[in-house]
Amino acid sequence: MIQRLAIIGVGLIGGSLARALRSAGAVGEIVGCGRSAENLKLAFDLDVIDHCTRDPAIAVEDADMVFISVPLGAMRGVFERICGKLAEGAVVTDGGSVKGSVVADAAVAFGAVPEWLVPGHPIAGTEHSGVGASFPALYHNRRVILTPLPQTDPKALGRVREMWQATGAQVTEMDPAHHDEVLAATSHLPHMLAFGLVDLLSRQRDNDAIFRYAAGGFRDFTRIASSNPEMWRDICVANADALSDMLARFGDEMTGLADSIRRRDSDDLLDIFSRAKAARDAYVDGVQPETTPRPGR
Ligand code: NAP
Repeated sequence: MIQRLAIIGVGLIGGSLARALRSAGAVGEIVGCGRSAENLKLAFDLDVIDHCTRDPAIAVEDADMVFISVPLGAMRGVFERICGKLAEGAVVTDGGSVKGSVVADAAVAFGAVPEWLVPGHPIAGTEHSGVGASFPALYHNRRVILTPLPQTDPKALGRVREMWQATGAQVTEMDPAHHDEVLAATSHLPHMLAFGLVDLLSRQRDNDAIFRYAAGGFRDFTRIASSNPEMWRDICVANADALSDMLARFGDEMTGLADSIRRRDSDDLLDIFSRAKAARDAYVDGVQPETTPRPGR
């Protein structure tokens, strides 16, 4: 049971955590902290938070658990503001989508990564943002990855694990660099494809016709291009190395596919699509796909 939870950044991720913990009866009081008075008022009116402030240093006073869910570019500023202001025994964790940058920001702001900081990332979300988009079931049966460091206090890690388990999430652990590589492939790259595709098409001369006649598949594939642009700018900057590697590999894949199409190489196209279908079907069924080396590339 958390006595007093401070949520810095009461948007989709922070608001949903507050709502999930409230409905599980796992939290006493919740203090919300954010930039705009409007979003905080909405959080209060929706009963997501009990108190609010726009100053992170005030929000963390007397909190035994602090959850930071601001965009990655704002993390270091929040760490600097709460430095020296935390209650004795408080545990701090976050929901940022990249972990190496959060660890680096903490090292700069606190002088070293503190043992009471447990970096984390809920693998859950939608393309909507703000507390109005938050809901208590967001984390139910979803994964949360915690990326503790060698100095992380096992008790702090245990408390953050219990907090997420109370929301119905499945908690796993990973090294921060490994997390950033995996997420570059599974989340950040697909968002780049959606943003890039919609941007390309919207700049075509006949884009009215393209969007008017787009079918359900286009809508499904591009849903995530409606995600918050500032949040995604920060994710790209924070995970620049791993993400640019993945984009380069994907670019090679597209160049190869374009070559096969230009050559009208039916066998190669059938190979590519069959491999992709088998991998996708196995993923949907929860079975690990067999990884066979690609012939000729
Ligand atoms: P969001 O709905 O836009 O919420 C972000 C909140 O942070 C807003 O309430 C915003 O306040 C506040 N904020 C922004 N800049 C701030 C600053 N400089 N100081 C204090 N508060 C600030 O975003 P979100 O989707 O919850 O994302 C939050 C974090 O979770 C990000 O680090 C993101 O990488 C991570 N994450 C997102 C998803 C996803 O699918 N959305 C999934 C997993 C993890 P105002 O409303 O007043 O601007």
